[in-house]
Order: sequence, then structure tokens, then C-alpha cells
Amino acid sequence: MAARLKRDDEVLVIAGRDRGKRGKIQRVLVDKGSVLVEGVNMVKRHVKAGQGARQAGIIDKEMPIGMSKVMPVCPSCDKPTRVAFKTLDDGTKTRVCKHCEGMLS
Ligand SMILES: [Zn+2]
Repeated sequence: MAARLKRDDEVLVIAGRDRGKRGKIQRVLVDKGSVLVEGVNMVKRHVKAGQGARQAGIIDKEMPIGMSKVMPVCPSCDKPTRVAFKTLDDGTKTRVCKHCEGMLS
């Protein structure tokens, strides 16, 4: 089963507080159906010194966002796109852009 979204994909947020933001996927949480995107869905975390943090204070941290709230951006035509799947001659599945049919991975 080929995944619609992969690590290092550039995605556009299409819903929620960060709508319109773009970022790179840092992690795909398959079981949760969400992705962690660089700079998206940031929350302020208050941390105490000594709990893995060198200093006490407030840090910005990304929280995962639902996969349905992001769309991959096609590297060929630079548009957010729906993903189509295509099987190549050698049997491998690949993701293609619905606009330009360029490969996404
Ligand atoms: Zn495209």
C-alpha cells in the first residue's frame, strides 16, 4: 500500500489555524493518521529545566496535524495537488501529480 504522504514532502495546509502555510513533513504518524510538519501547528510549551531541557522557559513545538488537512505540493508544477497512483513497468508504485502527472516520489 503506497502512502499518500511521505517524510520530506512539501505540503500545504488546507484547513485549520495554519491554513495556507507550507512546510516539510518531518514525521508521518501512520497509526494516528497525522503528520508532523515543520513550522505548522506550533504550540508554546512551558518547560522546566532538567527535563531534557537545558533551560527553563517557553519553547515552540510542532504538534501533529491530520493528514486530511494537508496536501502535497508537486515539485514539478509547484501546485498543491491530489495524489494519483501509477504502477510503473517494473511493478513499483509511484505517486503522481493530478495536474502535470509529474512524479512526487
Ligand atoms: Zn504537478
